[in-house]
Amino acid sequence: MARRLGIAQWRSRAPSGPVGRPAAVLALGLLLLGGPAAADGIEVAASIAPVHSLAASVMAGVASPALLVPRGAAPHGYQLKPSAARALARAQVVFWIGRRMESFLVKPIAALAGASVALADAEGVHLLATRKGGIWEAEEEEPAEGAAWDGHIWLDPRNARAMVAAMVETLARLDPADAHAYRANGEALMRRLDDLDRELAGRLAPVKDIPYLVFHDAYQYFEARYGLAALGSIAASPDQPPGARRVRAVRALLAKARCVFREPVFDAPLFRSIVAGTPAGTAELDPEGIRLEPGPDLYFDLMRGLARTMRDCLSAAR
Ligand SMILES: [Zn+2]
Repeated sequence: MARRLGIAQWRSRAPSGPVGRPAAVLALGLLLLGGPAAADGIEVAASIAPVHSLAASVMAGVASPALLVPRGAAPHGYQLKPSAARALARAQVVFWIGRRMESFLVKPIAALAGASVALADAEGVHLLATRKGGIWEAEEEEPAEGAAWDGHIWLDPRNARAMVAAMVETLARLDPADAHAYRANGEALMRRLDDLDRELAGRLAPVKDIPYLVFHDAYQYFEARYGLAALGSIAASPDQPPGARRVRAVRALLAKARCVFREPVFDAPLFRSIVAGTPAGTAELDPEGIRLEPGPDLYFDLMRGLARTMRDCLSAAR
C-alpha cells in the first residue's frame, strides 16, 4: 500500500501548477506531456459515478479523480476498459464500494501498487443484507463468498457522509500538503448531504405508503431511510434476467403496484410485456447515475432525481 506516497508528497508541494517546481522537471513535463496540467496533483481513481462524485467534491480545487466506469455504462457485470485500467494503474489511491458492487475491480485492485479504500468497510457505513424471501429472492443460489451485503450503500445520505469522512482521512494522509482543502471540502459536503437528507425526507413523506415495483434491487438503503413501500424487483439480480416463474410472480404483484420503475440499462421488450395491460404507472429511475453528467453535483442530481421521479409517479392519480 501507498508505495508511491513519496511522489504524492513531492507533487503536493506545488499543488497549484508548475510554479516553484525545479526548472528541469518543468521542462521535461512540458516536453513529454504537452502542458503542465497532466501531471498536476494527486492521482485518484473512483469506481462508479456516485463514488466519483463524492471524491470530486472532496478534491475540489486540488485535483480531479478519474472515473473507471464511464457515463452510459452499467456497473454490474462491467468489464474494465484499457483506458480505465491505465488510470487505475496510475492511481495513488482507488475509492470503490467493494466486491459486492464492483466485482470487476477485485482482481485489478489486488495487483495495485497504490492504496485502495473499500468504502463499504469505512467507519460509520451502515450495511444491509441482500434481500431474501418472496419476490426479492434470487432464483439461483449466490456463490459462497461470506455474508451477502447489498452494495448500493450510497443511496442513504448518512452512508455518503461516512464515505466522505473516509475519503477525507485517506487523502489527507496521502497528500498532507492539501489536507486543509480536503477537510474544508469534506465539511461543506457533509452539510450539503445533511440538507439533502432533510429535503428528500420531506419530499418523499407524502408517498411513503404507496406500493411500487423496481427493476433491480438497488433501492434498499433509500427505502429504509425514507420509509418507502417497495413490493419487489423484476430482475432477481442485476446480471440475471427474470425467468418465467419470476415473471409470473411479478405479474401477480402488479395489481397492487401504483408504479413500476424501469432503469437506463434494462430489457425494454421484457419490461413492456410485463407491464402491458396493467394500471400501474411507469417511470425511469437511475440509481447508479448512468445517464448523469459525472462530477461533484452528480450525487445530488442522482438522489433528487430518484425522489422526484418516485414522488411524481406515486402521487399521480390512476
Ligand atoms: Zn445496482
